[in-house]
Amino acid sequence: MTQGTLYRKYRSQGFSELVGQEVIRTVLLNALKAGEASHAYLLSGPRGTGKTSTARILAKALNCEQPMQGEPCNRCRLCQKITVGQCVDVLEVDAASNRGIDEIRNLREQLHFQPMEGRCKVYIIDEVHMLTDAAFNALLKTLEEPPAHVYFCLATTDAQKVPVTISSRCQRLYFRKITAADIVLHLQAVLQKEGRQAESEALDMLSQAADGGLRDALSLLEQALTVTEKNIQAADIRRLLGVPAAAAAQAMLTQAVAGNLSQAYASLAELLGQGVQAAELLKQWVVQLTQALQHAGHNKSGEQAQHFSLAQALTLLDVCFDIDKRLRWHEDKQLLLELTLAKFHVALQPASTAQYVVPSVQDAVQSAQVKEKVKEEVKVKVEGLVSGNPSLAEIKHRWKDVLSAVRQVKMRIYMLLCEAEPVAVDQSTLWLAYHSGNSFLKEQIKEPEHMAVVEQAIERVMGQKLKLKPVMQGEAVGAAPPVEQTGEKAPVEADDHSAQRILEVFNGKFV
Ligand SMILES: [Zn+2]
Repeated sequence: MTQGTLYRKYRSQGFSELVGQEVIRTVLLNALKAGEASHAYLLSGPRGTGKTSTARILAKALNCEQPMQGEPCNRCRLCQKITVGQCVDVLEVDAASNRGIDEIRNLREQLHFQPMEGRCKVYIIDEVHMLTDAAFNALLKTLEEPPAHVYFCLATTDAQKVPVTISSRCQRLYFRKITAADIVLHLQAVLQKEGRQAESEALDMLSQAADGGLRDALSLLEQALTVTEKNIQAADIRRLLGVPAAAAAQAMLTQAVAGNLSQAYASLAELLGQGVQAAELLKQWVVQLTQALQHAGHNKSGEQAQHFSLAQALTLLDVCFDIDKRLRWHEDKQLLLELTLAKFHVALQPASTAQYVVPSVQDAVQSAQVKEKVKEEVKVKVEGLVSGNPSLAEIKHRWKDVLSAVRQVKMRIYMLLCEAEPVAVDQSTLWLAYHSGNSFLKEQIKEPEHMAVVEQAIERVMGQKLKLKPVMQGEAVGAAPPVEQTGEKAPVEADDHSAQRILEVFNGKFV
């Protein structure tokens, strides 16, 4: 079976066969029955939703020798010629590959000749938004006064890019994404004609993956038919799409939230090893959490929902959306998903709620952070005056340089380090604290080779050798309280008052 066979074989040949576009069917049939079809239609909508098929059906209906209530008969000479693309009066131009003015000029020259075979000429321009400006201008002139025997069907997936001078001269037809239910029905009909069968879960997955496009759905079905012998099973489709089983994704989510991270990591490694796509796994979590959200919102307890409250589901979804942005460019997708699982756990720890800032609320605290940063910079300057050693504030100030130095050496260590912050320093040691719930990260950074990488980065950035001491937040650090170890003298606390005074000297202000 060659690519696209099913789509061509089962392409809609009449308005009644159009899948999921009831409004458009009614509009066109009514116009055709009344003999009032518009001379220019702009068919816009997502790919694979039936725009070109509709244009061809319209061309048939306008030329058919025995139309029935607006529908083409599909039996007469003209219908059959148009179906196989051999009618000289129906011309298709693909603007994506023929963008130039020559094609449109050519088209204009031909316009005034009478149709050779049928009653009218129909010009179908696919992806019309791709035409050049010059070509649009040439087209505009023909649209202004089309001869009575000429009809235009302009199809586009991006109607915004069609000049308003063009679109305002057309009747707009908006194609919508085809619903998953409609796609499933169509796939079932195709399977029946092909003498094949599929599990309903398999068809559900195909229709979800097609995202409203019938052509994509049929293309996926075609692949599935070629890789399976008899019934198409859900597992076949999962392998085809790299989609994890819902139960496996959910189990991993449950394990992570419960803090059973090593088990969750093992399941993750196993799934990725089986060819599951990282993005598909994340998508699956989003689907399940959204379901949980809906159930929680309706105060119902469903299978997926029983574990999470509304607030918990929202928090976990935030984690997913944050990772989703990074997943596209990140090389080590397994590591990123491990981090996601860890964050699932941390995010729902009551003790950590104050420390864990989910991305969605980051904006809200940003102005406070900017103010903090100014204070921090002032503090660094003040401390630098009283001590030659790097102070805690100085280290904090340059910590992002340390992080990026580590990142250049090894991304995995950088990720381990991201959740920690420097809390104390003396002549030889730097204490690094992890928030509660992140103890597994602390344990991993303690690996001697990881420590060595971080210590070298600190030395490079700060110009001083310091031993790293990872601890949990709240744990005692050093032999004495950290603030007294930052230099020979206690550092000057840059409180609001002194910071304000220094700012006044430099004519600055808090932002
Ligand atoms: Zn006909």
